[in-house]
Amino acid sequence: MTKKFLLKESEIPEKWYNIAADMVNKPLPLLHPGTKQALKPEDLFPIFAEEVSRQELNQTDVWIDIPEEVRDKYKIYRPSPLVRAFELEKALDTPAHIYFKNESVSPVGSHKLNSALAQAYYCKKEGLTNITTETGAGQWGTALSFAAKTFGLELAVYMVKVSYEQKPYRRSLMQTWGAQVIASPSMSTKAGRKILTDNPSYQGSLGTAISEALELAMETPNCKYTLGSVLNHVSLHQTVIGLEAEKQMELAGEYPDIVIGCFGGGSNFSGISFPFLRHNIKDGKKTRFIAAEPTSCPKLTRGVFQYDFGDEAGYTPLIPMFTLGHNFSPAHIHAGGLRYHGAGTIVSQLLKDSLIEAVDIQQLDSFKAGVLFAQTEGIVPAPESAHAIATAIAEALKAKEEGVKKTILFNLSGHGFVDMSAYDQYFAGDLSNYSLTDADIAKNTDLLEKLV
Ligand SMILES: *Cc1c(COP(=O)(O)O)cnc(C)c1O
Repeated sequence: MTKKFLLKESEIPEKWYNIAADMVNKPLPLLHPGTKQALKPEDLFPIFAEEVSRQELNQTDVWIDIPEEVRDKYKIYRPSPLVRAFELEKALDTPAHIYFKNESVSPVGSHKLNSALAQAYYCKKEGLTNITTETGAGQWGTALSFAAKTFGLELAVYMVKVSYEQKPYRRSLMQTWGAQVIASPSMSTKAGRKILTDNPSYQGSLGTAISEALELAMETPNCKYTLGSVLNHVSLHQTVIGLEAEKQMELAGEYPDIVIGCFGGGSNFSGISFPFLRHNIKDGKKTRFIAAEPTSCPKLTRGVFQYDFGDEAGYTPLIPMFTLGHNFSPAHIHAGGLRYHGAGTIVSQLLKDSLIEAVDIQQLDSFKAGVLFAQTEGIVPAPESAHAIATAIAEALKAKEEGVKKTILFNLSGHGFVDMSAYDQYFAGDLSNYSLTDADIAKNTDLLEKLV
């Protein structure tokens, strides 16, 4: 039986899929933080490349061309394989068929390069020389470092301090690809100085790092900011994952009953899901889509649907989203890429309309699933991806209990080679589960009503 479903280079998609154009209930508009008016693309030009600003607000074009230069770079690692997880199925003794799309094959080890290459390309094409960004666990910064080098841009990365200290190899990777890496909070920006003088031992958060990277971009000529998750244009670029998977499932002669992605800000979940969700919207398919988030950062399962800022200092537009509040500071779990307080506007609207579902996964359950996957399929997953694996396993066991054959597809968003210290801690029994009380959550979300 075929294990791996491969496409040719010529089958790399030529267009990204823009689900906003197909949605019946469109996402609510982004609002200007000062005037509270709906944003126009021009309002985003000071921050983002013009083309991605237009993509961000595009609710009319279903298909958007992938520039030939970007497609050409995708050939370094795309099309990525779709794999049938026979050994995992056997270990679970399940009638379910489990498939995974392997995005860990990118040179940076995760799906993030799909958007990094696109964003760096547009910045270069628009005549910029410098770009900035933030990175939590380091995957986005790593991907953008390679993309910036590829297209000849200088990159400054604000890296959340706790990761800068805990994940030195991600920092080395970024430096290898030529980026400047700064631990955040830093004294190099107003936002960083304010936080550090209020609380000198602060270990940083994604929200703070975003504030710093935005500030540097706004104050530097020929420099713009890039973001690796949450925003619509990032999800758009990630649809290459699902578009390829759609063709590969066809090669396998199956169609998924359930599609699963782990969830930080939503980009890999959107990437694997939206091309299939299109057939729910347009063709009456009944596939379930499950976003898997950590119990310690449960914006989809326990957050509120509200306008909120994307960053801690409140520099970003107001974003209508499921959020735990921009002041929320999650526990230091090892799936660093999932420690973000909010979700993208499209995903938030889809969840509100029950077109997708969300579950939360405890840290220890995610590692247990990750280890089983490594021992059966051979790939050590990123701690983030292990949340999707845990969800796929739970659904496969449910299928076994019910005695039904289900076809399950999940996205393996990345490998865990740079996260082995987290696995060490898991094996040593040093990791724990984290749960939040309703009061912990309300403390931050109660402040949100004042924003709009
Ligand atoms: C960044 C990251 C995530 C989470 O980000 P999304 O935008 O929600 O996809 C998940 N997995 C890996 C491997 C990552 O690097």
